[in-house]
Amino acid sequence: MLGDPGPQGDRDFLGGVMALRDGWIEKREAEAAKANGNRNMSQMNFARQSVITEEMQYVAKREKLEPELIRSEVARGRCIIPANIHHRNLEPMAIGIATKCKINANIGNSATTSNIDEELKKLHHAVHYGADTVMDLSTGGDIPVIRKAIIEASPVPVGTVPVYEAISRVRRPEDLTFELMLEVIEEQAEQGVDYMTIHAGVMREHVPFVRKRITGIVSRGGSLMAHWMEHHKKQNFLYERFDEICKVFKKHDVSFSLGDGLRPGCIADASDEAQFAELKVLGELTKKAWEHDVQVMIEGPGHIPMDRIKEQVDLEMEWCHEAPFYTLGPLVIDIAPGYDHITSAIGAAMIGWHGASMLCYVTPKEHLGLPNPEDVKQGVIAYKIAAHAADVARHRPGARDRDDALSYARFLFDWNKQFELSLDPDTARAMHDENLPDDFYKEAKFCSMCGPKFCSMNITQLAEAESGQDQAERKQKFVELLAKVQNA
Ligand code: SF4
Repeated sequence: MLGDPGPQGDRDFLGGVMALRDGWIEKREAEAAKANGNRNMSQMNFARQSVITEEMQYVAKREKLEPELIRSEVARGRCIIPANIHHRNLEPMAIGIATKCKINANIGNSATTSNIDEELKKLHHAVHYGADTVMDLSTGGDIPVIRKAIIEASPVPVGTVPVYEAISRVRRPEDLTFELMLEVIEEQAEQGVDYMTIHAGVMREHVPFVRKRITGIVSRGGSLMAHWMEHHKKQNFLYERFDEICKVFKKHDVSFSLGDGLRPGCIADASDEAQFAELKVLGELTKKAWEHDVQVMIEGPGHIPMDRIKEQVDLEMEWCHEAPFYTLGPLVIDIAPGYDHITSAIGAAMIGWHGASMLCYVTPKEHLGLPNPEDVKQGVIAYKIAAHAADVARHRPGARDRDDALSYARFLFDWNKQFELSLDPDTARAMHDENLPDDFYKEAKFCSMCGPKFCSMNITQLAEAESGQDQAERKQKFVELLAKVQNA
């Protein structure tokens, strides 16, 4: 399909035949060994030493930006390239305000549903329809085996929430220890996980704030940490021993996705004391991670009404020093279970427009059950729409080319090109063919919506013909745009 195929040209490639980064990383490891084993392999570390890595060059090519701009943004912390040194078949991508708005798709099983084949099918759907990263949120079965299969098959960065695996190794949440968490983090880092959600910003003193809420704590990681802190009457060990996590991250180049454990779970709870208290701590932790040259993005809500969305971005930028903002939705209303890919894509488009760098998708199954591959597709398409709407509204150079090309195809009745240029060509074609399936209708100057006598675009062309104008100019512009889009 059209879109950003990456310089290798085929984002449907799955299976690890090509390990794009082998040579790049081996060279860096040899250099690190010579320099007395300095094992800070993070992209931020290289960027701050004024080195433009192959990953930065690759990203610059994909984004049509100068490599030096990518380097300076990574050095500044305003852009991250999640690229664990063990994820060798990764096609590097960037998340930040200077680059295109990205989307993430969550996959992974639960204790009751799904298996490896099903998860790989979800991965394939997610990448095929355009997910820029995936998160493996598996909480059941053999979590490391599922993750290994996903990393090996994934050309896009893979994120995880390590507390899920840590919890699966203890009997009760209160049995969790920092040592176990670090062990899990280290194992996942060695396996090639590119970014990890760490709920280090949920503080013991924040927990009472949620009592006023309707839905309490809705983040799994946030609720587990709150439970642990209340049980032991102690502070969050992820906050207290954050430096030790940074040391593991810089060795393998894992990026932080600093978790919003206290994100609101309904619009009534949006933008409250609990949410903002945690956001301030995430800003403090961002600076700590940057002292280690570890890359950081900040997770954001959740459920926010439209009139409070801009404030979310403004505060994150101010308190978290412009680290990339990675938001879940947000859902702008709460009354549409079964359609929350729509309620959240509205908020996602808005927050992307105001400056969020990556949008975590929500599927129609949100709040109701584990998504299946079809739900994954619906969620990804909804979020491609949101991210693209944000890029268009942000006036990114060339962002509108594909829209304009499709509009010319539509006006000139080139139905096949209209399908090809759409985000989901199969669906567009199937809907058209439902009533007019014959090939003859692929050049017809109408569709079944208005019929031949009332097609306004055809009537416009007839009116123009009456005044002696033909469609040559539009056809020429269409050809030029098409070439631009196909080479993008
Ligand atoms: S018939 Fe109506 S909907 Fe169909 S192409 Fe013409 S104007 Fe568009």
